[in-house]
Amino acid sequence: MGEEKKVKIKKIQSGGLLKKVMADYFHDLSDASKDGSRKVAWCTSVGPAELLLSFGFAVHYPENHGAVLGSTRTANDYIPVANAVGYSPDICSYLTSDVGAFIKQETPLSRAYEWFDGVPKPDILVYNTNQCRDVEDWLNWYSRELNVPCIGISTYRNLGEIRDYHLEGIAGQIKDLVPTLEEISGNKFDMDKFKSVVACSRDCTLMWKKVLEANENSPAPMTFFDATIQMGPAVVLRGSEKAIEYYKVLLKELEDKVAAKDGAVEDEKFRLYWEGMPIWGKLRNLAEFFIELKTAVVASTYCNSWIFDSFDPEDPFTSMARAYSEIFIARNEQFKQNYIEEMVAKYKVDGILFHDAKTCPNNSNNRYGMPERLEKKLGIPSVTINGDLNDLRCYSEEQAKTNIEAFVEQMEGK
Ligand code: SF4
Repeated sequence: MGEEKKVKIKKIQSGGLLKKVMADYFHDLSDASKDGSRKVAWCTSVGPAELLLSFGFAVHYPENHGAVLGSTRTANDYIPVANAVGYSPDICSYLTSDVGAFIKQETPLSRAYEWFDGVPKPDILVYNTNQCRDVEDWLNWYSRELNVPCIGISTYRNLGEIRDYHLEGIAGQIKDLVPTLEEISGNKFDMDKFKSVVACSRDCTLMWKKVLEANENSPAPMTFFDATIQMGPAVVLRGSEKAIEYYKVLLKELEDKVAAKDGAVEDEKFRLYWEGMPIWGKLRNLAEFFIELKTAVVASTYCNSWIFDSFDPEDPFTSMARAYSEIFIARNEQFKQNYIEEMVAKYKVDGILFHDAKTCPNNSNNRYGMPERLEKKLGIPSVTINGDLNDLRCYSEEQAKTNIEAFVEQMEGK
């Protein structure tokens, strides 16, 4: 691999609009806290955001902030600060970097937007343990620190088939949040509003799904590294029309690229599935490396995780319970294997890359024999790279690139 060789990541033109949509979201959040016009809720990424939005809360997602700390490569300035107050370097590095940044009263958002004075103080903290226990511990740290109530949902984990009794329990827990949310927001629960937010989230989800499915085409019009940025509105604006409008624009651009056979990777030779968390601080670097290898990372469990097809505005509580319980991370090993098999077929991939993220066992699916089982069953190779979502001390670029190069050679030899 010639080092002097320069590769260029192809721009997604809608990116300019994306920047504006995200800036508007942060502006709205900042205004809500400044003028006191709206209460602020902090919510885990796969938490009951639609319910909070129906009460008029401005919603902040600490995991999104964690990803911002990762992608700006500032996380490692803050992780030791959280370690010093007893939060281990082995637990979620979103948690430790976010808590550390809070303790230091710093955020890269203030560098990006001059009007952003800091993450607004919450009036309520709301979690869902569907993804992991760390989110509950994370928000409870803020609850103690800021003396703000913390409420949430404890979801079943390692679910195989989802039964009605699971859904009744979870829907009941979501309903139980209502009296506290009424008290904190000062607003009565409004079923029609709740239904309309759920409808918006469903429409956003369906658009996001179509965006990702554009990559079923070969050459793929965008890569996993593009998609991790493009998913911003699906994460923080999924109950709003703005996200839907944005994805319409993006989808049109991707469809045009597909029609023109304008692939994100010039001369796409191999197609990969990315299983596991992104390495936020290395997105650009990895994107360029894969372009050099003429390999397109076309699909991922991570980006698919913001597809909630089960939302049904006619049955908002139960459908929300279903949508937030059937996510990949909350399922058992067999479900996960079947799911990856489906994705391999759907996106016609030649190999699977597993990212073993040191501080997120929940999103590291290489640890119980999955790569070996899939290789044997599907007859395609896989590679595991060691790293982390935010803590770059766990990632050796040299080692990862050597492994990926060898992996691509292996695919070439097939
Ligand atoms: S799923 Fe992983 S990355 Fe996400 S909050 Fe939990 S431990 Fe952190």
